[in-house]
Amino acid sequence: MALQEDDFKKVISHAKEYGFVFQSSEIYDGLSAVYDYAQQGAALKNNIKEYWWKAMVQLHDNIVGIDSAIFMHPTTWKASGHVDAFNDPLIDNKDSKKRYRADVLIEDYVGKLDAKIEKEVAKAQKRFGEAFDKEQFIATNPRVLGYKQKGEEILARMGKSLSEENLADVKALIEELEIVCPLSGSKNWTDVKQFNLMFGTKLGASADTAMDLYLRPETAQGIFVNFLNVQKTGRMKIPFGIAQIGKAFRNEIVARQFIFRQREFEQMEMQFFIKPGTQKEWYEKWKETRLKWHHSLGLGEDNYRFHDHEKLAHYADAAADIEFKFPFGFKELEGIHSRTDFDLGSHEKYSGKKLQYFDPEINESYVPYVVETSIGVDRMFLAVFSNALREEELENGSTRTVLKLPAVLAPTKAAILPLVKKDGLPEIAHQIVEDLKWDFEVAYDEKDAVGRRYRRQDALGTPFCITVDHQTLEDQTVTIRHRDSMDQNRVAISELSSIIKAEVDLKHWLKKMN
Ligand code: ATP
Repeated sequence: MALQEDDFKKVISHAKEYGFVFQSSEIYDGLSAVYDYAQQGAALKNNIKEYWWKAMVQLHDNIVGIDSAIFMHPTTWKASGHVDAFNDPLIDNKDSKKRYRADVLIEDYVGKLDAKIEKEVAKAQKRFGEAFDKEQFIATNPRVLGYKQKGEEILARMGKSLSEENLADVKALIEELEIVCPLSGSKNWTDVKQFNLMFGTKLGASADTAMDLYLRPETAQGIFVNFLNVQKTGRMKIPFGIAQIGKAFRNEIVARQFIFRQREFEQMEMQFFIKPGTQKEWYEKWKETRLKWHHSLGLGEDNYRFHDHEKLAHYADAAADIEFKFPFGFKELEGIHSRTDFDLGSHEKYSGKKLQYFDPEINESYVPYVVETSIGVDRMFLAVFSNALREEELENGSTRTVLKLPAVLAPTKAAILPLVKKDGLPEIAHQIVEDLKWDFEVAYDEKDAVGRRYRRQDALGTPFCITVDHQTLEDQTVTIRHRDSMDQNRVAISELSSIIKAEVDLKHWLKKMN
């Protein structure tokens, strides 16, 4: 079974104990909402990025990838709207002195209604057994419908108040719902205020000539300002996309839930430039394509859902999140936004440079529309990692902790283990490492009893353990143990490479998108 909310702590401690994620500057007691990826974590993260890059750039002949700078001319952020509108509504609890995002408090309240719906469904499932029709139950049960309607009404009202900047009503909503501070339990709230999330810094040595800069809060703007350069030099024809992976920074008000919400994080974004009027079609297409990418990793299709935005950002004419079932509930993993010509149009205005495309098919120039897909690397990491971590009871009554990572993403693909540290077995094991390391990330381990070594590799998510024993000396065969089934079989050393490849090959996984 996958771990539940109560076990989220286990996810965090497993990530630390096995060298995936550490708190930043831990020896100085850490820095709030900043994390470091360790030896296993960096490998997993790189594999996630590669899986995205290959799917988006390599497999699409009309998408190219760039790597733009974190620092950008400050006018960029005026044009993008971030200086004026990249705010979160914050509210303080006067008793605990804790600061919250007002919209998150309300969303959490609605999340509890969702949890009640799930409980009703589970109860009914138990009662009706095999005959249970979940969809029909959700569509007709009065209690479920009541919770659903209430949730929708709350979110619609919040969306309206936020887009009208009616912060007094956001506070009124929190009061009407009797939302209490999770820490103090009190309803003693301040007014709701707006807070800009960008980090400021300075470029230049002397105080009077230094220029105020921002650390980019998203990678997208690095794509927009390069739109024309890439289009011209790459001779790109609309529709085409520009993809990028890079760091982004946000001074988040409430930074919690481990790597889910950080102040420094990484995004994988793709801006798809299209002819005005075709945005609905492309928006739907990209929603579908991105969901397929997620499904290809096999984390369970029930763990994803779309959530349409009630409150559209200043640049969007349609927006949806792909939400994932994290151990703390369904939350945003990726955003798909129809951004119209807002960004390019605005950069035209602020820069005085034309950012248009001459369309030879209609003999006209226009500012292209944009559909964006934007996913956080760290949230994807958390989705994959928390979904993979299992505690299993074995037939002999003992338990094992296993990280059932999709094999294509696993940091180490195979561990090579000599049964004993003598009789020439380590030499053969080293030779196998030498042969395999050109194609796969492999590890050598000779310490402790072999059972303990298996457990350790299970906890790291290594799909294969290859054991060299005395029979190997006679017939050049080894045992290969599969992480998930724990099945072991005997194979020739010469077959190892193709056996591993069949399970970890990118092509094998990405083909599932078709
Ligand atoms: P949220 O509502 O959770 O703050 P957002 O809607 O502001 O997220 P976007 O601006 O759409 O997020 O950013 C695109 C993606 O970047 C998100 O789907 C998420 O995966 C990731 N992301 C955004 N903020 C953070 C953060 N503080 N830490 C980690 N990942 C983030």
